[in-house]
Amino acid sequence: MSNPCLFCKIVAGEIPAKKIYEDEQVLAFHDIHPQAPVHALIIPKHHWASLDDVAPRDRPLLGHLLERTAHVARELGVADTGYRTLINTKAHGGQEVFHIHVHVLGGRPLGRMVAP
Ligand code: AMP
Repeated sequence: MSNPCLFCKIVAGEIPAKKIYEDEQVLAFHDIHPQAPVHALIIPKHHWASLDDVAPRDRPLLGHLLERTAHVARELGVADTGYRTLINTKAHGGQEVFHIHVHVLGGRPLGRMVAP
């Protein structure tokens, strides 16, 4: 049976995405429904359903994911003005795609982070 995960399909090239950055471990692409002038998603190629699924052994890959997130933000030109990073986790966190991903939002002032 084929992998039902949407972001695994993007990693496999089975679904198109507007790629920004790729290496052996991570992939970054533009969000299909941007919430800000810049809205990118950075994902590990390895499938974790959510942040709740990571373990101590995953620290190197998580560190790489976050460091490459900063790299992508610089590539997108929002590093100097600033940006927001976000990981939604499970139902109360508003997670819709169950493959861990870091949102990068920027290109305009986003205001203070407050829970709606
Ligand atoms: P989350 O609510 O944190 O799970 O966010 C999932 C994000 O994935 C949303 O911002 C969606 O707009 C985005 N998304 C869903 N499908 C695609 C796709 N095919 N390509 C790019 N982004 C997508």
